[in-house]
Amino acid sequence: MSPGRQSRGTCAYCEMQMVKGAMLRHLSTCPQRQAAIAEAASGPGTSGQLFHLRVQDAGRGKYWLDLEMRGSATLNDLDKYLRAIWLECCGHLSRFSIGGWAGEEIAKRTRADRVLEPQVQLTHIYDFGTSSETLVKVVAVREGKPTTSHPIALMARNLPPEAQCMECEQPASWLCVECMYDEERSGLLCDEHVRDHPHDDYGEPFPLVNSPRVGMCGYTGPAEPPY
Ligand SMILES: [Zn+2]
Ligand SMILES: [Zn+2]
Ligand SMILES: [Zn+2]
Ligand SMILES: [Zn+2]
Repeated sequence: MSPGRQSRGTCAYCEMQMVKGAMLRHLSTCPQRQAAIAEAASGPGTSGQLFHLRVQDAGRGKYWLDLEMRGSATLNDLDKYLRAIWLECCGHLSRFSIGGWAGEEIAKRTRADRVLEPQVQLTHIYDFGTSSETLVKVVAVREGKPTTSHPIALMARNLPPEAQCMECEQPASWLCVECMYDEERSGLLCDEHVRDHPHDDYGEPFPLVNSPRVGMCGYTGPAEPPY
């Protein structure tokens, strides 16, 4: 991504699209989100701490999520969420740590409110072979009733990064890992050019899904939130 071309994303409450840098402030003022919070407040739920997490891939950060997590939820809930929306290929091990990759491991049974506070950043590693590294930063905390019955709510997500076919510059929806690794080409292919593409050393070209694990360990998605 060239500098000045920030990744864009969508607010899950009002569906407005904006650059990553503007989303945090938008979420604090979004009228639809305020309405959801007000509706939850008048409902039967239990009040508690709710953590606004900015989750992003540790590389260029073009894949990102804004999540709201209950204080009573555990890191295991977050691990399951990340696996569903971004990571799961073949049941690899994962772990959370604080203070970077080599930092202190935090057990998955740990409640969010035991380890999270503003500015704390966790590192999540999925698969210690072909690793996916995700950063989880607490950007805000509020006190209130959760807006969903689930431990985690999706508040915003990046739009799929723009990808152009390396043959014709039309929008790409496939990735050839062999081109990427062995020929140092982008490996991005449109529906037309994927048809007769000759490579299969790493398997057939993979569908481009909205996940930082695209092209790694045969990951094919679906890259959908679990709830
Ligand atoms: Zn909004
Ligand atoms: Zn795998
Ligand atoms: Zn093409
Ligand atoms: Zn290829």
